[in-house]
Amino acid sequence: MAEDVTAQVCVVGGGPAGLALGLELARREVRVTVVEQSATNARSFRGESISPDSVWLLDRLGLLPKLRGSFLEMRRMEITDGGRTVLRAEFADFPYPHPYPVELPQPALLSVLAEQAAPFEGFQLLRRATAVELVEAADGTVTGVRCRTPEGDLTVHATLTVAADGRFSKIRELSGLAATKVPLDRDVIWLKLPFPAEWDAATYRVRIRGGQHGLFIPTHPDDVRVGLNIPKGGLKELRAEGISALHRRIDALAPELSETVRTHVKGWTDTSMLDIFTALVPRWHRPGLVLTGDAAHTLSPILGQGVNHAVIDAVTLAPMLAPHFAGGRTPSIPLLDSVLAEFQAVREPSVARSRGLQLRQERMFALEQPWQVRGRQLLYRLVDRSPALKQRILAGAYFQLQGGDGVPGLDLTAPAAAPVPAAATSK
Ligand SMILES: Cc1cc2nc3c(=O)[nH]c(=O)nc-3n(C[C@H](O)[C@H](O)[C@H](O)COP(=O)(O)OP(=O)(O)OC[C@H]3O[C@@H](n4cnc5c(N)ncnc54)[C@H](O)[C@@H]3O)c2cc1C
Repeated sequence: MAEDVTAQVCVVGGGPAGLALGLELARREVRVTVVEQSATNARSFRGESISPDSVWLLDRLGLLPKLRGSFLEMRRMEITDGGRTVLRAEFADFPYPHPYPVELPQPALLSVLAEQAAPFEGFQLLRRATAVELVEAADGTVTGVRCRTPEGDLTVHATLTVAADGRFSKIRELSGLAATKVPLDRDVIWLKLPFPAEWDAATYRVRIRGGQHGLFIPTHPDDVRVGLNIPKGGLKELRAEGISALHRRIDALAPELSETVRTHVKGWTDTSMLDIFTALVPRWHRPGLVLTGDAAHTLSPILGQGVNHAVIDAVTLAPMLAPHFAGGRTPSIPLLDSVLAEFQAVREPSVARSRGLQLRQERMFALEQPWQVRGRQLLYRLVDRSPALKQRILAGAYFQLQGGDGVPGLDLTAPAAAPVPAAATSK
């Protein structure tokens, strides 16, 4: 028989946004329950690119040393268009404490977040609990969620409910907060292959040929993740041509992988499709409820921005909320609502900047008329020759925080409370 739970904050979703928020609230002595539908951190195919700003954040939060050995540090990015290298960026050239993005499998990140949060007395992670309904007071204020578990239904009562349940957020849908899904022109097919011996494992490779492009991303410990663009909704057509059509796409972009792809990708079950869209959500909150991470702002996978913004949401929101919940206090709903409005106002411009950069990049990749392709190649070469331009473009995705201009209100100076030993807690 499942028992109801009472917390100050209930977070729905134990992904990067939810677990990072749970940890940051627990460190500030806020009683928080994270509700996660999965039994473990093992996840279906997920992006693993973590931007340098997030690496910096993970370091500031004391988590980076615990992740050592679980990630690959990337040193450069190389864009090839029509068989020629048109742009190369050496991340070491960027003057920031953490200039390198890393490739970090999400299960490792989520395990460290959950392990660090677990010893705090006020932290609770409810696994195999799926939020199915919002609980509301007579005036419409959200006061918690009802969850389905293998032991039966339970309710988590909370002053604030946080939707961190990802790009297909059920809580957002239940809340009635409007969201517009904006599909991008193309989808991506992902697959993994053993890493080719002739490549160095510290380079992101973007290969473009006409209107086709592929991302070739080194993946911990020794694979390469390949993301191939296809026309929006074009999977059915491609599938009808058989798996050899996919092999031929690889041949065109990375002939070095021709043999490997035929050995390791024998059917469509060896691939995974990502429907690429961004979600525009004009209002992220209503009384008693706020959206964070992908639920508030789904991004495309270009330049590894999803996890970045999910974690920044968490480290921004936690210090804004904590003073109002300190010492077991319950903030009034209007006060809480004003904090949530401020949270959105602080975070939105930074997300919009990344989204704009991704959309521009996506449009560049999609150009296919010969004159457009020539223009694109020219532009990449121009950027290649100008360190200032390179810096400016990458700063929008990689160095908003470290560049110091991006996220007002972010409080990383507050010392984190020392973990309470697990043995001393009673849950
Ligand atoms: C194929 C693919 C490639 C990507 N590539 C990258 C990349 O390289 N770099 C990058 O930064 N981002 C990438 N992304 C995006 C990235 O995965 C997300 O932006 C990031 O995980 C968002 O974190 P989140 O915590 O908001 O949501 P999620 O990671 O989606 O977490 C949501 C959690 O909520 C749980 N949940 C959902 N509904 C419920 C419910 N009703 N009750 C309880 N629990 C629930 C889910 O099980 C999940 O654990 C990629 C995404 C995909 C799908």
